[in-house]
Amino acid sequence: MTAPAMTLGVPAEPGRPVTGMCRLWCGGTAVPVWWAGHVRFGAAAAGLWACRPCLEPLARMVRAAADAEERARRLAP
Ligand SMILES: [Zn+2]
Repeated sequence: MTAPAMTLGVPAEPGRPVTGMCRLWCGGTAVPVWWAGHVRFGAAAAGLWACRPCLEPLARMVRAAADAEERARRLAP
């Protein structure tokens, strides 16, 4: 069974990929992509869909940042 075509602006069922364009680094145009949330830069905003190989380093960065914030919170007086 093939994944449904991506509909821009409408998140896929949580945790399930659709076939579409990866909006991170690889440039894939018809690959399985997962909804990763909204990204905002100044006045511009877009939904972020990305393939698993591109999401993995992003997920590691997010987890590392969250861990660092948690450590800082615990050390705060
Ligand atoms: Zn990608």
